[in-house]
Amino acid sequence: MQGKKHYIEAAVKSAKWHAEYQKEMRKKKFDTIAVHGIYSMQEALNFNQGSIIEPIYMSTSQAYRDADEMEAALGYEIPTWCYSRIANPTMYYLEGVLAMLEGYGSGLETSAIATSSGMSAIMTAVEPFLVVDKKHPERPINFVATAQVYGGTFQQFAERKQNDRGIEWRKVIHSHDLDEWESLIDENTRFLYGEMPSNPGLAFFDLAEVAKIAHRHGIPLIIDATVATPALMRPLQHGADIVIHSVSKTLTSSGFGIGGVVVSRKNITSNIDNDEMKADFAVYSKLLPNRDNGPNISPFNAVMALNDIRTLRSKMDQFSRTTMKVAEFLEQHKHIEGVDYLGLKSNPLHEIAKKYMFLVDSETDDIYRKAVNRYGHLMSFRVKGGGQAARDVFDGFEMIWRATDLGRVKSVATIPAISTHSQQGEEGRKAANIPDNLIRLNIGGEHADDIIADLEKGLSRLDGKVFPVSGPLFSAAGASSARLQR
Ligand SMILES: *Cc1c(COP(=O)(O)O)cnc(C)c1O
Repeated sequence: MQGKKHYIEAAVKSAKWHAEYQKEMRKKKFDTIAVHGIYSMQEALNFNQGSIIEPIYMSTSQAYRDADEMEAALGYEIPTWCYSRIANPTMYYLEGVLAMLEGYGSGLETSAIATSSGMSAIMTAVEPFLVVDKKHPERPINFVATAQVYGGTFQQFAERKQNDRGIEWRKVIHSHDLDEWESLIDENTRFLYGEMPSNPGLAFFDLAEVAKIAHRHGIPLIIDATVATPALMRPLQHGADIVIHSVSKTLTSSGFGIGGVVVSRKNITSNIDNDEMKADFAVYSKLLPNRDNGPNISPFNAVMALNDIRTLRSKMDQFSRTTMKVAEFLEQHKHIEGVDYLGLKSNPLHEIAKKYMFLVDSETDDIYRKAVNRYGHLMSFRVKGGGQAARDVFDGFEMIWRATDLGRVKSVATIPAISTHSQQGEEGRKAANIPDNLIRLNIGGEHADDIIADLEKGLSRLDGKVFPVSGPLFSAAGASSARLQR
């Protein structure tokens, strides 16, 4: 009856209230934001029957009072969750908390879009840059990204972008080498992309310096920070434009569902002629490309993630401390060739990681009272004796789960060469530094002594075995099994 204007005015008032609430929330500590996010008591009492936990809106769409409200909503003139492919209140609660946690301590305004998986988060983050240059449609397109990336990312970049579409992936092999990044960029480069710490190789680089290189060339830096989580590292603060996470991993450590997120700062750097995209990348992705492509998260998975995120900081502290103990145990073990963990002083990248990976708010909590480094719960180790020896050890675990999974509250191990990284073949694994005898280990919430005892059980299977002094890093057996996996 009162027309569209009435609805728009009401939306402006409500948006103001929410913005004010979020501004206050942003002043709080990391733990407080993780627990409450953007779901307030006022919202619960006014709209959600007082429900203390964020309700799961298992619904496809929203109904409108009249044609005016529908028109304003579908024209994006008022906030709406018209259809759950685009928006949904439960999704929105997850996006709100992750935007705040990722921006924590930076003073930056951030926004987020949740996606159906980590892989779709990567697709969401990179596709808007891989568009035809209208002024020079004949020019080839390339992007520069670290070779040490998650196996799925490797496939998306190598197969879906490079082989299917002719978009060149220029691989950074030694990501700590800033000159290597710089030397790969030209006027057709659309973005820089890095996974840090990488899964499973734990590659790491000087984030702030790589961000400077990107911005000098007028392009964005995109970071996959899944392994660190915002409790240990927040790349936007160091100059990154966009951060992605596989929400399926540590953020949902209980393992109840697959999800992803893209978080961006306002006004990102890009050589693409699209002002709306640059102004607010996550919101643009939500309202346009992802509306059209449809990689949305389910509201149920969103609430599962929310539930685990509440205790993220204390879990990352415990997991990291236990992982450090396990890494120290393995490092001195007679059957171990080497341990990759950024927390170990022997790791060549330890000093760079030390600059970036801190337990958030440790300087103000009542345990540490100073900034403490924490390096997360992903590590890997190489077993002496090659691929078969690694399989023997792996098969001997009784408590540590054999699965291609990580980020769990339960300890999980995998052999990347025969699982997550099998499809990329021997050459790809060589570039990503994934030898056959590498076991990736995700340390969960169990007591360190019990994890060490289980590892000891597996390793003791090698007692008395005699191996050749040094074999080739990539055995012929490894290569043929990779072909079978394709
Ligand atoms: C698992 C993972 C992904 C992909 O996430 P999904 O949720 O499995 O699609 C991306 N990056 C990293 C570092 C990962 O570990």
